Amino acid sequence: MALEEYRKKRNFKETPEPTGKEKGSSRSAKPPIFVVQKHQATALHYDFRLEIEGVLVSWAVPKGPSLNPAEKRLAIQTEDHPIEYANFEGVIPKGQYGAGTVMVWDNGTYDTEPQDSAPKQLAQGELKFTLHGKKLRGRFVLIRTGLKSSGSRGQRSWLLIKRQDGYADRSWNIDRYDWSVLTGRSLEEVAAGVSVDEGPGRLRIQESP
Ligand code: MN
Repeated sequence: MALEEYRKKRNFKETPEPTGKEKGSSRSAKPPIFVVQKHQATALHYDFRLEIEGVLVSWAVPKGPSLNPAEKRLAIQTEDHPIEYANFEGVIPKGQYGAGTVMVWDNGTYDTEPQDSAPKQLAQGELKFTLHGKKLRGRFVLIRTGLKSSGSRGQRSWLLIKRQDGYADRSWNIDRYDWSVLTGRSLEEVAAGVSVDEGPGRLRIQESP
């Protein structure tokens, strides 16, 4: 895990995204975090990120995560992101990598069983975890589907699937959850630069999804 690819893709004089410090071990005693960012780039998608060994291991999920176990979501693994990226919400300027609007759609902590087995499970291509978020809760699995024979591109394909438990929701519709868990703003409000104080969505943070 390293941030070279992340840094190489970005011009930090132009983009407000974090450069990322050198990875430290200061967070290692705490439960690892996850974040999901709704990203209106060329195409709308959701970036699903899990803290593993000091970075946010990342997948782009075109349709976004689902609480419906019947919906298998394609997840394309992308470059690792710095931990500080979990708090990034705003606009990446035109012409820059990933240009468009980024909203912190969900966040929280997660566990794997056994504890701290995420690096091993990631390498094996099957990662079972439990999310403790505001919108996403319960057990999930990420399964790598790309075969070695299909080249490095194929190896980046995974499926994100909700497992059966009390948080499963057959009527899940992600469009009902268009607010930031940081600021309560909709994606449109983030794009328009509506300030956090005047954001009409402010109170939605308290709302139980
Ligand atoms: Mn993205």
